[in-house]
Amino acid sequence: MYKSLLLLCVAGFALSFSGCAQNPVSGGQDFVMMSESQEIATGRSADAEVRKQYKVYDNPALQKYVNDVGQNIASHSHRPNLNYHFTVLDSPEINAFALPGGYVYITRGILAYLNSEAEMAAVLGHEIGHVTARHGVKQQSAAQAANIGISIAAILVPQLNNQAFHDASNTLSGALLSGYGRDHELEADRLGAQYLARTGYDPQAMIRVIGVLKNQELFDAEVAKQEGREPRHYHGTFATHPDNDTRLQQVVGEAKNLTVASPIENRSEFIKQTAGLVFNDSVDEGVVRSNQFMHRDLGIALTFPPQWSVKNSPSQLIALSPQQDASIEFKVDGKPSGSVVEYARRLLGNGVTINTEEIDKHTAAIGAKNNVEAAVIYNKGKAFLILCATKTPQIMATQREAMQTTMRSFHALTEDERKQIKPLNIRLVTTQAGDTYAKLAQNSPLGKNAEKYLRLINEQYPQGEPVTGQTIKIVN
Ligand SMILES: [Zn+2]
Repeated sequence: MYKSLLLLCVAGFALSFSGCAQNPVSGGQDFVMMSESQEIATGRSADAEVRKQYKVYDNPALQKYVNDVGQNIASHSHRPNLNYHFTVLDSPEINAFALPGGYVYITRGILAYLNSEAEMAAVLGHEIGHVTARHGVKQQSAAQAANIGISIAAILVPQLNNQAFHDASNTLSGALLSGYGRDHELEADRLGAQYLARTGYDPQAMIRVIGVLKNQELFDAEVAKQEGREPRHYHGTFATHPDNDTRLQQVVGEAKNLTVASPIENRSEFIKQTAGLVFNDSVDEGVVRSNQFMHRDLGIALTFPPQWSVKNSPSQLIALSPQQDASIEFKVDGKPSGSVVEYARRLLGNGVTINTEEIDKHTAAIGAKNNVEAAVIYNKGKAFLILCATKTPQIMATQREAMQTTMRSFHALTEDERKQIKPLNIRLVTTQAGDTYAKLAQNSPLGKNAEKYLRLINEQYPQGEPVTGQTIKIVN
């Protein structure tokens, strides 16, 4: 289920604010209604929320590596005495974000697309820049003035483009996009570049990382076209390609006089650390292969309509129609004492006709009301809910058949399906003469976009080819 971090933070905060504070970067007075100790406390409580929403990636060696690099950069920042925390999250999202007070997160999703320690340092440096310039605090103060609470300064916030279902999240993303958004991003880039240079990295790594993200956006636009959906848009710096972004070039260029003679790149160390990294879905939360969702521990599978985009996160599984006017949400609940029909009635309210039918040898209750249709199935001591909704009752009429096909596809995993449930991992290979990305992509579990994925993770998108004898990343 999609639950935006922005929303999460709205729920997460109810603090009192007071006073003006000195800005650690500029030395001037800020309109921030929060002391440093309040800032740290805010970060700490939001960190607890982040840890409920995300799992920490289970790889102590990688966590240590990221933390070592992060601490080193932070010690060269404007706020070297803050207690920083760097955490790799077990999420396929391509993201990094910072909370007030020194909490910095980077996903395994973004790590898969980076190609050197310098690039990872750039991502961390940018987030440290948000912390030192107190952007999270300022956003929260500004948001509080506008009566909404935003506190996360994310490097990327995908703006979901479906008003029907995510009005609130759109409003909040909109708030991030407007006004100070671009300025804060540029300031974080400027500070990050400075910290990179002071730590011994090439500040130009910042531009390269933004190029990685820009390519990701271009790739998503292509996939969106294939899937007939709207592309994702990211906030901040990506209006043009970073190579052509003069303001970005300028803010990063300011760090030039701090650059050391032979900057640290550490490509091979970084690549070694990220070998074996889980790519895309992790098995614990179930996997989606060709729009079929399969969950090993629950022992069940469900097939969503072709062309729909399926979003799977620890807290939610939801599929959206290409026009984003219909959704199918899949939920698991503890099995209550009453019957499936009673459960469905509670869900849909009185005065609704509930029919029963057999789905995969279990009695399912199916009920409909206006633009909502729901199925309840009890299986192995759990209640499974398939909730379908459309923007209007008219759209329900055209989508009902596809939605019911999904309901009826619910079944216990077969042995064959169970075997398909394994994570994809990043592997390292040394390229042989004649290797091309097209050749390496043959029979790839990444499917029709495999060649593009391989180029993206090796930073040779859209048309680079590997050099013979080079160590590159593949996925299998
Ligand atoms: Zn940012």
